[in-house]
Amino acid sequence: MHDVAIIGGGLAGLALSIELSSKGFDVVLFEKNHYPFHKVCGEYISNESLDYLAYLGVNLKMMGAAKIDRFSLSTSSGARMSTHLPFGGIGISRYTLDNALASISRSQGTTILENTTVLSAHDGKLETTAGDFSAKVVLGAQGKRSIIDKQLHRPFITTPLATEHNFIGVKYHVKADLPKDLIELHLFKNGYCGISAIEEDKYCLCYLSKASNLKPAMSIEELESNVLSQNPILKDYFSRFENLYDQPKVISQVNFQNKEKGNPSILFAGDAAGLIAPLSGNGMSMALHSAHLLQAEVVGHLKGQQDLNGALSNYTRQWNAAFGNRFSFSRWMQRAFFSEYFMESLVKTANIFPPLAQTIIKQTHGEAFFEG
Ligand SMILES: Cc1cc2nc3c(=O)[nH]c(=O)nc-3n(C[C@H](O)[C@H](O)[C@H](O)COP(=O)(O)OP(=O)(O)OC[C@H]3O[C@@H](n4cnc5c(N)ncnc54)[C@H](O)[C@@H]3O)c2cc1C
Repeated sequence: MHDVAIIGGGLAGLALSIELSSKGFDVVLFEKNHYPFHKVCGEYISNESLDYLAYLGVNLKMMGAAKIDRFSLSTSSGARMSTHLPFGGIGISRYTLDNALASISRSQGTTILENTTVLSAHDGKLETTAGDFSAKVVLGAQGKRSIIDKQLHRPFITTPLATEHNFIGVKYHVKADLPKDLIELHLFKNGYCGISAIEEDKYCLCYLSKASNLKPAMSIEELESNVLSQNPILKDYFSRFENLYDQPKVISQVNFQNKEKGNPSILFAGDAAGLIAPLSGNGMSMALHSAHLLQAEVVGHLKGQQDLNGALSNYTRQWNAAFGNRFSFSRWMQRAFFSEYFMESLVKTANIFPPLAQTIIKQTHGEAFFEG
């Protein structure tokens, strides 16, 4: 029997595995894909996570991460505003970052089973495509939506998704001629598209659109030329940036919800514990921060200092204190960003009164959460 079994090897699962393995626990992690692999993500990480990533052993400088400290926004009509990013962040692909974390985790002693899907988890017993396993503690870091959420009958997955809350996400890596220290956000009807530099002179172009924008039989290409390209800046970018993949990465059925943080037999971190609108640019930092909070409670449990119910209630309290306000704000912000009239007025006002933009951005970024 393992001390800890982790479902999912994204940022939350890998951070948990590194922290727990490095403290001497026997950890097994299941990842349904094979590293390295691409993910739909804007690949901008706020600076609040840098100290923690360094503590985990990630050398972002050596990986060629881009340093980003300016922000620019355009409305659907192409009206623009730009500002300094009060906290700033870095650009690094998930292909590179997740792969580096997986290598670190293995070197700390984690058993990582790739190409392995967890099909069910109950009372410390896991059924996977590589056989059955058991662990004293099971942690769910399976991301936004997984087969395991269905098996666990989690409320967010059993409730039918209202059309207006159903989104698709699309990502490309492109060659572009944009400044490397700038993250751009371009609005279109019922969606927004971010673009910013990552490693190796590449840029990540990633957008989120209400699924209702994609009419029956409409292709992603048609969505881009009919809907996104109504923003003249996006029209220009789609016409001249070179795509570095044959096909974009696409995910569907994305919905932004706070979720329960666990039950007496499994505790959740990252998107599995709550999915924040990417507009706030901080889901990755939340995944890492939540993993850091959760591992401390798991250590307390494995050392016999608390039962799993105690760990769950402590973790839930800390999660709400760390992210509750940011979560509510980002929901409000996403609704506001879909109102064309509101956004045209906001951009006009922010151009006349620049501190307004800074005040809004500050609500979306947190303070550094790790002190070494
Ligand atoms: C369009 C879009 C753009 C975004 N842009 C940004 C951004 O720029 N900056 C930012 O900070 N955040 C962004 N986010 C959010 C960010 O991507 C997530 O918050 C972050 O990836 C969460 O990490 P995680 O480890 O919880 O989940 P994930 O990274 O999704 O990892 C979950 C892992 O679990 C694996 N898995 C799932 N089910 C199983 C199973 N049953 N068995 C085994 N393995 C399984 C998956 O393969 C996956 O690797 C964006 C999100 C979207 C949708």
